[in-house]
Amino acid sequence: AKQGGATNGFCFYSGTSSSDLQEKLELETDLHTALENDELMLFYQPKVDLITKQVTAAEALVRWNHPTKGFISPVQFIPLAEENGLILSIGDWVLNEACKQAEIWRRASMPDIKVSVNVSGQQFKEATYQARVQEALKNSELPPSLLMLEMTESLAMSDVESSIELFEGLKTLGVGLSIDDFGTGYSSLSYLKKFPLDELKVDRSFITGIPENKDEIQLVQAIIAMAKALRLSVVIEGVETAAQLNLLQATQSDLIQGFLFSKPLPADEFSEYVMSNVSQASF
Ligand code: C2E
Ligand code: MG
Ligand code: MG
Ligand code: MG
Repeated sequence: AKQGGATNGFCFYSGTSSSDLQEKLELETDLHTALENDELMLFYQPKVDLITKQVTAAEALVRWNHPTKGFISPVQFIPLAEENGLILSIGDWVLNEACKQAEIWRRASMPDIKVSVNVSGQQFKEATYQARVQEALKNSELPPSLLMLEMTESLAMSDVESSIELFEGLKTLGVGLSIDDFGTGYSSLSYLKKFPLDELKVDRSFITGIPENKDEIQLVQAIIAMAKALRLSVVIEGVETAAQLNLLQATQSDLIQGFLFSKPLPADEFSEYVMSNVSQASF
């Protein structure tokens, strides 16, 4: 008998064991009822203004509080939801929930918080996406300028012409547009220039090597300079240490997001974080 699925010198071992597969199937089944059972939750991670040291924005990040398995990371279940189409209803829920929360904060005696949500490829490509965003704004009464949509670089670049059209449609609503995980895809500058963008998020992978790796900060500087030439606001993701923040203070970046300030927090803890001004203590 042939061994381990290897034939003709090719090995088909994919790194997925049968118990991983079992787990995936279980999650996939449970995901179908997660929304109706109220098991999804949004956490909010502060984005801190490098100049004023205040929190001015938040990224909404979905969590699944599974009845027996506890909290499950979006890295695990978002790909499943993309495979089975549930991402459309999950994405809709995230969008509406984030808008509602930002409007609650706006009405509270708290500085305005611009909330960003992550948009998946399937949502974005759906014909009704723009109408759904409009609906979420209308239902929540959130001013459009307080909503930002984050699309990954690879998604935006996968079909440039239709991205431009979708982005332009979304801009007519007055929302902000952000390119997420920048630097991991294969953007061409000439295309980036054609997108009506507001913000660029430098991927965490560029920050991890700082300060040990001297080339890395120069690379980040170059990305920031490019983003500034395109008149974009720059967010640095994944800042974990004071040394990293120190080096970034000499750059033209606008917002910093990372564990140095805070992990993503439940809504009530997020507002406590903002109101207590603890972000200043990290500088
Ligand atoms: P992302 O949009 O790039 O979000 C940033 C991720 O980096 C978050 O992980 C956040 O917790 C993590 N992070 C932030 N600061 C640091 C840091 O200093 N160090 C490290 N090591 N990590 C940091 P999270 O919440 O696990 O989300 C992972 C990804 O899942 C997101 O990456 C996004 O692509 C996706 N995702 C999350 N929520 C949603 C959603 O509602 N819809 C869609 N379509 N995707 C989502
Ligand atoms: Mg207010
Ligand atoms: Mg994001
Ligand atoms: Mg990112």
